[in-house]
Amino acid sequence: MIKSRLPDVGTTIFTVMSQAAIEYQAVNVGQGVPDFNPPTRLLERVTEHLYQGNNQYAPMAGVVALREAIAVKVMRCYQRRVSAYDDVTVTCGGTEAIASSIQALVHPGDEVILLDPAYDSYQPVVSLCGGTARRIPLLRPEFSIDWQRLKDALSDRTRLIVINTPHNPSGTCLTQADLDQLADIIRETKITLLCDEVYEHMVFDGAAHVSVHSHAELSERGIVVSSFGKTYHATGWKIGYCVAPKALTAELRKVHQFVTFAIATPLQYAIADFMTEHPEWEMELPRFYQAKRDYFNTLLASSRLTCVPTAATYFQLVDYSQISDEFDTDMALRLVRNHGVATIPISPFSEQSPRKERLLRLCFAKSDAALMRAAERLSAL
Ligand code: GLN
Repeated sequence: MIKSRLPDVGTTIFTVMSQAAIEYQAVNVGQGVPDFNPPTRLLERVTEHLYQGNNQYAPMAGVVALREAIAVKVMRCYQRRVSAYDDVTVTCGGTEAIASSIQALVHPGDEVILLDPAYDSYQPVVSLCGGTARRIPLLRPEFSIDWQRLKDALSDRTRLIVINTPHNPSGTCLTQADLDQLADIIRETKITLLCDEVYEHMVFDGAAHVSVHSHAELSERGIVVSSFGKTYHATGWKIGYCVAPKALTAELRKVHQFVTFAIATPLQYAIADFMTEHPEWEMELPRFYQAKRDYFNTLLASSRLTCVPTAATYFQLVDYSQISDEFDTDMALRLVRNHGVATIPISPFSEQSPRKERLLRLCFAKSDAALMRAAERLSAL
């Protein structure tokens, strides 16, 4: 008998639903994964670096050219000056950045504040560290933060608050007022922030992403996580990065170096080149994804699903209460098995999801043809 360190954890819902999509040959609008390629220029750069011989271990913290490009980008997008050497670490995707950050900071007995629904990777890593997650339910229907409740949940043992903006799965964003509230609440504490901002470049309707990078007080005590997989349609490359003040970065790297050591070298050089040559890329991304959101919403308008307005991310929540009263995991399984559409139920993001909520998460990072096929099947329900 193996004594599990994660006895209550199964396989992630993303893996479960993507496997089911293959098994039932369903249209996969579940897992957040684009069905289109990264920009050709970026792919060409990878090939060049492969043949130029950039195939050995990269520096543990990331190749210098990439860290410098990241520092330039953080300045351009958020007017924050960071050191490529001391503050930036290239990681194996956002997931490793999150896991290494939590492991670097959380001691046995510590408490970590999570906002529920929370991305599924946070809580298991807190558990591995011997910490306890305190989950604060986001207020419906806007998935906004009950700041008083968060404040009341803090204790002497609170080590970390994890925020996620734009938020997966709801697609909502924190405002400047939210960040100011947070700053007020933690000012007199030693709490660190972990800021999952991997959907930073998918904010719609002319709104700007309000980043912890731009908040002078919070950025001094936070680790901000970003993802090239999201920004460059390259989730399979598993490259992200985090930015944190020098002392936090030093602790984070102590973990990172023994989790992955370093990240794929030619991919890092290629991204560095692309970032330098195409700084406009992330400025054009909102328009690209907003068009997909609007197209998908239009297609779904004739269905009995109700689209919950999504301000950001490439996810769309839909309410299916006009179709069924099933629990979301049952509904998602029935949809993939019987109707050929893979979706993501949102209860796996919650400890105790509201039993009455009837929401599924759909991903619109898909070709128009795939969105059309999914919408046709969903409209037939
Ligand atoms: N972040 C992706 C999502 O929310 C999934 C990533 C993964 O499967 N690990 O769909």
